[in-house]
Amino acid sequence: QDNESPDRNVAFYCNDMNQGMQERMRIESGLRHALGHGELTLYYQPKFEIGSGHVVGAEALVRWVHPERGVVPPAEFIPLAEATGLIVQVGEWVLEQACAQAAVWNRAGLPPLRLAVNVSAREFTPSLPGRVADTLKRYRLDPSWLELEITESTLMHDIERVIGIMDRINKLGVALSLDDFGTGYSSLSYLKRFPINTLKIDRSFTTGIPADASDCAIAGTIISIGRQLRHRVIAEGVETLEQLEFLRKSGCDEVQGYLYAKPLPAYEFEQSLRENWLLTA
Ligand code: C2E
Ligand code: MG
Ligand code: MG
Ligand code: MG
Repeated sequence: QDNESPDRNVAFYCNDMNQGMQERMRIESGLRHALGHGELTLYYQPKFEIGSGHVVGAEALVRWVHPERGVVPPAEFIPLAEATGLIVQVGEWVLEQACAQAAVWNRAGLPPLRLAVNVSAREFTPSLPGRVADTLKRYRLDPSWLELEITESTLMHDIERVIGIMDRINKLGVALSLDDFGTGYSSLSYLKRFPINTLKIDRSFTTGIPADASDCAIAGTIISIGRQLRHRVIAEGVETLEQLEFLRKSGCDEVQGYLYAKPLPAYEFEQSLRENWLLTA
């Protein structure tokens, strides 16, 4: 048998492609169904101020609770949602849900927490600030309860347009943070023009602390740039006390990671907040 025959390769290739496309279509229609049938849910991971030890906020992270597959992580459906445009509906749902939850916690008398929502590049359109303002108004929510996390891929597009949208979000009093900082394409010359509040050190750098000298240098440099530009700096993916110590000594403001907590369903998050995290306040 001639495995190298061109026909055979083409046949294999088409077969792979069809399988890939079928998988894509299966996930896409499943996700549409999920949106309409309440199968999406938000988990919350706390953020702590290093200096005071206070819990200062939480990142809202979407999960798909599939009737057969169980809890599906975002890595398995967000990229596809971004590619198909479904991310716009997912994002609308996430913003709505996070604000609803913030309003519930606000009315329950919890101290102000900033709930951070991840926003994909395709959602970062001129209609976003208006939608955010409308959502805050409907829930009678103070804008200090909300934060948007954007990645550098958002900034690759029309930069003037992006800065215009950022300015409008900023004027609402909603905080902006630059997620996964250092992994994308943003140029330092633009960094000074972005009206952002926070730089978020990507987990890929945090992971190497303290053993990897390059990761330590990169994390230290991000902290230094952030401070000099008067931004807050948070490290994600903090798993060890050694990492926390390095970040503290380097002047990092906040931390988030498994050392403190994994992302939790709202009810468990609230329970830990009341039983543990608020007691240090
Ligand atoms: P991200 O925004 O960078 O979120 C941080 C990710 O790191 C989360 O993964 C979180 O669970 C994980 N993480 C936090 N601390 C640790 C740690 O100490 N160790 C380890 N190993 N992991 C840690 P998750 O929830 O799977 O989300 C993955 C990505 O999916 C997010 O990365 C974000 O880019 C995207 N995503 C999640 N929710 C949404 C959403 O509602 N909208 C959009 N557009 N993207 C979302
Ligand atoms: Mg994020
Ligand atoms: Mg991140
Ligand atoms: Mg990340």
